[in-house]
Amino acid sequence: MVRKIVQSLTAVVSNSYITGFLKGTIYQGKLKNVCVPGLNCYSCPGALGSCPIGSLQAVIGSAKYRFSFYVTGLILLFGGFLGRWICGWICPFGLLQELLHKVPGKKIRISGNWKKLSWIRYIMLFVFVIGLPLFVVNIAGYGSPAFCKYVCPAGTIEAALPLILAAPDQFGSLGGLFILKASIAAVVVIASIFIYRPFCTMLCPLGLIYGWMNKISMYQMQVDKDKCIECGKCRVACKLDIEIYKNPTSMECIRCGECKPVCPTNAISSGIKFRTKAEGAASFTEIEGK
Ligand code: SF4
Ligand code: SF4
Repeated sequence: MVRKIVQSLTAVVSNSYITGFLKGTIYQGKLKNVCVPGLNCYSCPGALGSCPIGSLQAVIGSAKYRFSFYVTGLILLFGGFLGRWICGWICPFGLLQELLHKVPGKKIRISGNWKKLSWIRYIMLFVFVIGLPLFVVNIAGYGSPAFCKYVCPAGTIEAALPLILAAPDQFGSLGGLFILKASIAAVVVIASIFIYRPFCTMLCPLGLIYGWMNKISMYQMQVDKDKCIECGKCRVACKLDIEIYKNPTSMECIRCGECKPVCPTNAISSGIKFRTKAEGAASFTEIEGK
């Protein structure tokens, strides 16, 4: 419940430029210079900030800069502090998929070999976010943001759709590219009803980066080995089928915390943890508990 409130508040606050929705325009003020931590399309009429993945592609595809310490630094800062807690708690597109998953219907659990589909995210990051904007450039030296342009369903749902609804006459001749993106978005929307967060688990390049940082982030899940009886109830409760008791730093774990209350021995905790010199490099001091 607390998580849903935090997710909803974040989604509303980061998309609170109401004029944009009413007039079909995009906010261009100073706040747009700042990246938000989650995936939230720059072109959403209500968006106050920029999407980190969109900004990353814009810099890589720029004729002047191929690397931005600012954008990369912000992503590393967000990830280094919170890891995939961002996915579970403050990403608007994560919330949208979770709400769609509440639509009644047969639920399919992604487990076993199906989890290998998560490798598609590497193609998204290394080909669409980095490779194509870097190497496929126009005569002026600019590369296009391929992930935003050809794939991102968040862009279609959060930006294109509200803009079309607000000013339908301006979008009379939508071409093949829009049909491609609308089809991808439709597949993600329908898949979200049956599968928990299909975009996060199979397509999201930002979730992939934050997932790497789950191992080193200050926010951590911890399982007390002395208390854990390896009953597996946490895995059953986890909609992502994660065995947190075997791997508390799993890169797939979005730190939603839904496994914690089901543990019969209260072995699972989570929070911001500081390494303390006195206790050695491997120990943590927890300042936020269960
Ligand atoms: S539910 Fe608790 S006791 Fe059971 S496997 Fe998970 S962490 Fe261990
Ligand atoms: S392991 Fe726990 S915190 Fe991680 S995604 Fe699964 S239920 Fe959420």
